[in-house]
Amino acid sequence: MSEMSLETYQIYVNGEWADAQSRKSFLSSEPYTGKAWAEIPEGDERDVIAAVQAAKTAFDESWWKREPRRRAAVLQRLAELLTENIEVLAHVESRDNGKLLREMVGMNTMTPAYYRYFAETADHLFGSVIRGGSEDVFSYTLREPYGVIAVQLPWNTPSVILAQAAAPALAAGNTLVIKPSEFAAASTLEFAKLADQAGFPAGVINVVTGMGAVVGAALCNNSDIDKIAFTGSPEAGRLVARQAADYLIPSVLELGGKSPNIVFEDAHLDRACEGVLAGFTAAGGQSCICGSRALIHESVYDTLLEYLTAEAPKMTLGDPRDPGTQIGPFCTQQQLEKIKQFVEIGLQEGARLLTGGQAPKALDGWFYEPTVFADVRNDMQIAQEEIFGPVVSVIPFKDEAEAIRIANDTRYGLAAGIWTQNVARAHRVARELRAGSIWVNQYRKGDPAFPFGGFGDSGYGRQSGQDALFEFTVPKSIQVNIE
Ligand code: NAD
Repeated sequence: MSEMSLETYQIYVNGEWADAQSRKSFLSSEPYTGKAWAEIPEGDERDVIAAVQAAKTAFDESWWKREPRRRAAVLQRLAELLTENIEVLAHVESRDNGKLLREMVGMNTMTPAYYRYFAETADHLFGSVIRGGSEDVFSYTLREPYGVIAVQLPWNTPSVILAQAAAPALAAGNTLVIKPSEFAAASTLEFAKLADQAGFPAGVINVVTGMGAVVGAALCNNSDIDKIAFTGSPEAGRLVARQAADYLIPSVLELGGKSPNIVFEDAHLDRACEGVLAGFTAAGGQSCICGSRALIHESVYDTLLEYLTAEAPKMTLGDPRDPGTQIGPFCTQQQLEKIKQFVEIGLQEGARLLTGGQAPKALDGWFYEPTVFADVRNDMQIAQEEIFGPVVSVIPFKDEAEAIRIANDTRYGLAAGIWTQNVARAHRVARELRAGSIWVNQYRKGDPAFPFGGFGDSGYGRQSGQDALFEFTVPKSIQVNIE
């Protein structure tokens, strides 16, 4: 890939590459350099209609939904191709969204595992035999694919988030129209190049790029879409759900978070300190599962604050391709401005700024220092709103009941961390927390076998794991008269 010339992309519909019907395109810029590096087609409703038609025809007429073992083989081939292209995909993603190259390599290393895991489930889609109340009827259920699934992605980790929805949806026999974020579209088009080689029937996978308000909206306003798998902010999620309601399209919504990372007095303190720091700085805080509220027992509160105050400023900000960098630039200037605004709000609300609270002096561009606010009350905006940056609100608590109450006092419910060496407490607290993913003595682990999703404003439905197969299939009940 040349550093000088623009990489140009096309959209992928019905197994063919084409410019957008508008003939328009938009530029994707590297957040670190600010320089445009790729030209992305700007699709509109016409491209969406063509892609949905292709996906519907592939669902109705190709072998895809009828031959589970053949589907599995194609998904395994896709996993091989993704494995061979980890570096290519990681470079493209890091270039588009500014996240650390090594983090994107890690994420793209996980991606093939999703397709492998779900390939193995393609011929294990069990229905059930139901006795029912009548002797003269034999009843059973089949789990059937929905049909055409619209998959809409955010910019922060496109490949893995795509895999969480696409792998189970495809394994179950559905076909897809995928719309990546306008801020990180290229890796999904690179993914389509690999899908093109893997042996899918034409139309099973389609990718239309463009603006959310145009392409995303058109995908919600199409009666041939059978289900929507949307990942993004609660604001856009609400719009999607409202639009989809007109056509009664069911949806899975994977939205934001304000996740508590709870440290009890009986925690292994060194590990907990590291876990809290990594919880809000990993991915520069641009992660739905960012541990952005640190709830700390009062007896270890000062120790933890000392650790964060000493260690957070040591983190290296800079070029996302440099292996020594720990926090890269934000994806957009708008994101940087949002972080600055929230820090102002935190100061006005009376939270105690321990470290950070400014852009680094030595670096131009969309950077912000890791920022620690102490003595935060949970009703402050900085404890309630998703900031999507490396900013943590540290909140003290007195006992387990108070920790649970504060942790659950949020409109979100995506993830939580529990740090304790007391096994009974770990399970007891995990049971009480209103969060879709809970980690004990670790934070941010993902796996294709684990269901992922949220409560409240973090969305509804589940991707990954066996639950995703239920999410992307619908039961059909059959009663046979055997009189
Ligand atoms: P966003 O909501 O701005 O965009 C997400 C997608 O929605 C994009 O593809 C965008 O083009 C599209 N979109 C925008 N307006 C639309 C409209 N009117 N109709 C249809 N689609 C529209 O989110 P983002 O900034 O890309 O990503 C960050 C957000 O995503 C954060 O809130 C983060 O927590 C969340 N997120 C959630 C998860 C999860 O699995 N729960 C994972 C990653 C990110």
